Amino acid sequence: MTNTTPPSPAASTTGRSFNELPLSPGMQSTLQQLGYLTMTPIQAASLPIALAGHDLIAQAKTGSGKTAAFALALLTRLNPRRFAVQAMVLCPTRELADQVTQEIRRLARSADNIKILTLCGGSTMRPQIASLEHGAHIVVGTPGRIMDHIDRGSLNLEALNTLVLDEADRMLDMGFYDQIAYVARHCPAERQTLLFSATYPDGIARLARQFLRAPREVKLQEQHEEGKIRQRFYKMENEQRLQAVGMLLKHYRPVSTLAFCNTKQQCRSLLEALHAQGIKALTLNGDLEQRERDQVLIQFANRSCSVLVATDVAARGLDIAQLEAVINVDVTPDPEVHIHRIGRTGRADQDGWALSLCGPTDRHRIVSLAQTMRIEPEWHELDALQNDNDSPLVPPMVTLQILGGRKEKIRPGDVLGALTGEAGYTREQVGKITVTDFSTYVAVVRNIAAEAVRKLSAGKVKGKTVKVRAL
Ligand code: ADP
Ligand code: MG
Repeated sequence: MTNTTPPSPAASTTGRSFNELPLSPGMQSTLQQLGYLTMTPIQAASLPIALAGHDLIAQAKTGSGKTAAFALALLTRLNPRRFAVQAMVLCPTRELADQVTQEIRRLARSADNIKILTLCGGSTMRPQIASLEHGAHIVVGTPGRIMDHIDRGSLNLEALNTLVLDEADRMLDMGFYDQIAYVARHCPAERQTLLFSATYPDGIARLARQFLRAPREVKLQEQHEEGKIRQRFYKMENEQRLQAVGMLLKHYRPVSTLAFCNTKQQCRSLLEALHAQGIKALTLNGDLEQRERDQVLIQFANRSCSVLVATDVAARGLDIAQLEAVINVDVTPDPEVHIHRIGRTGRADQDGWALSLCGPTDRHRIVSLAQTMRIEPEWHELDALQNDNDSPLVPPMVTLQILGGRKEKIRPGDVLGALTGEAGYTREQVGKITVTDFSTYVAVVRNIAAEAVRKLSAGKVKGKTVKVRAL
């Protein structure tokens, strides 16, 4: 019962305008303001289907714009005057749930007062229950926590008309099948179900058979544009591996690099090796508290940390706009995973480096990789790296943390105002501003960081004195 809709060639070559979709004028202008001028290929292929009310399985790589593809569909169906949960998005992790919530919020800003709640584990139940009692239109969360709320009767799904399974492959990897099944069974049968995934493992078909109705399928093959990702393989001995990462960084001098290791232990060892070489690197792992994880991601995304060290699991679903390099510190045995890893770089109009470190035992992995990718691997020697530029690799920005966030009603404009007003800086000296519940993070160019801390601490943000520190 599956209909496959191949994306039309026009969709993948020339960008198609959102104007051809049945969206409200308010939504059209929001998209314009956000700079979403043309649909991404997955949006062009899936939005007409989703807006027509069909169930959908959509597969496309990370960073291809899948969130807006389902967000536009669920927002279009939403009745803001009805105070009941009408749409629910299941995500594998709190980070992804936060990213999805933010994107839906941005897209919903022309409609008034749409309430979106994030419900994830790791936070206490009671405030979530209180928020649910106040009413929400959209709920975004992790399967386990949503299940708990259904169980306790704190989440009423009678009015639900759209269920989204985002990053379905990842949720299956994490063993959430039963939780997803529980949640889906507690949703009204008469609903639209949209399933999004970066890959298409077997479990997805099983999930779809059970919980989707005559779904249309849209699959966009992972295609990396010719020449945008430049791939090089470095031969070395295993003992050289950790040292080699620093050599590559000093040679290529990328501003932001994602370094993949196959194990957590390797992540820790690499972090130590990089710190010993004076390189600002951070890692993501399960032992971090949520606030620490947020700080890692924020510093990396705003260009105040050179290297993010991660395993595939930890890096899944991260959306980082500008990434000059991906380093495979360990080569992965799975060619699909390799393709996914290196697809993080060379986005949009930028070129990217994909550098892989290959010890003697990795050679056979490269052979099968080369076959899958239909490439001739370009081999290089470590010795050929010229480290004549031995100046330290320093991130261009520094992150300042301001104590006070969404709960204090601080908005990005307030911080930008304080820096460009009283403090006298230019817009160009200020980078990304991220507001979380209790803190606001602003990136500033490195050479004004210390002074900006002093000026912000002495002045006021939104009429109040604030505590500020550089991370
Ligand atoms: P995915 O879920 O496929 O990994 P996301 O939905 O996170 O991808 O989108 C990746 C990035 O692309 C986001 O920063 C988003 O704001 C941006 N984006 C999405 N759609 C468009 C568009 N039509 N035009 C420009 N940018 C877009
Ligand atoms: Mg996504």
